[in-house]
Amino acid sequence: MLEVRHVTKRYGKTLAVDDVSFTLDPGSVTVLLGPNGAGKSTIMKSIIGFLKFDGEILVGGEENKTPQARRIIGYVPEIPALYPNLTVSEHMEFLARAYRLTDYSARKEALLARFELSEHSRKFGDELSKGMQQKLNLCLGLLPEPQVILLDEPMIGLDPHAIKELRSTIEELRVQGRTLLVSTHIIDSVDMLWDRTVIMQGGKVKANVLREELDAQNKSLEQLFFEVTEGLKPEDEAADKTEKTGEGAEV
Ligand code: ADP
Repeated sequence: MLEVRHVTKRYGKTLAVDDVSFTLDPGSVTVLLGPNGAGKSTIMKSIIGFLKFDGEILVGGEENKTPQARRIIGYVPEIPALYPNLTVSEHMEFLARAYRLTDYSARKEALLARFELSEHSRKFGDELSKGMQQKLNLCLGLLPEPQVILLDEPMIGLDPHAIKELRSTIEELRVQGRTLLVSTHIIDSVDMLWDRTVIMQGGKVKANVLREELDAQNKSLEQLFFEVTEGLKPEDEAADKTEKTGEGAEV
């Protein structure tokens, strides 16, 4: 559904993404993990067509900048870009018109209710708290019902209710056959249904693993993350633990 092929992106002298390739299967959730500065946002912005890059990105078999690809892809940026003088409701209307959506009213109301924004629908963009902005950002990304959905650090700034709703929304979208790419640097925030993880560091892909593969190795996502980003092997981890706690030390 989404193919990232040998993508390289430089900002001046900074090599932000270095020959990155991965594929997302339809109806799957992929978590893009990596420390700050790993290149996650750069890959996201390249996929959505905000950045020029070397390499190739195909969405539904079409080059990512074609109108066909753009129609089926949705993006929820890490930092919401709202209009200070449009209300919550007007933001949704504006987006619906931009995407020429029809029959969207019920979906609009359901999304606003789900993320507890119904009672704030007349508030202007600059009257919203950070969390409310983040929730509206999500509602705007989900309103057009894209086939491929990119969520950049979506849990940041959300309250527990919204995190719970977002998790169940992600699961529902997956069941509906949508393809999701969720980036985060907080491993705990993705202890939800995920099918594949792509771990990036220093602009490179350090691991690309299916959930079944990790389960078969009896390994947690956290263990894999530290193994590939800190070069820790399970035996190093055990030694590290023994040094710190004395646990497992022979007497
Ligand atoms: P992540 O999303 O994983 O935190 P980014 O993709 O934002 O990582 O950043 C990857 C690298 O690119 C970092 O070294 C960052 O400083 C650099 N970078 C990101 N955006 C810009 C920019 N607009 N101009 C210059 N360097 C940038």
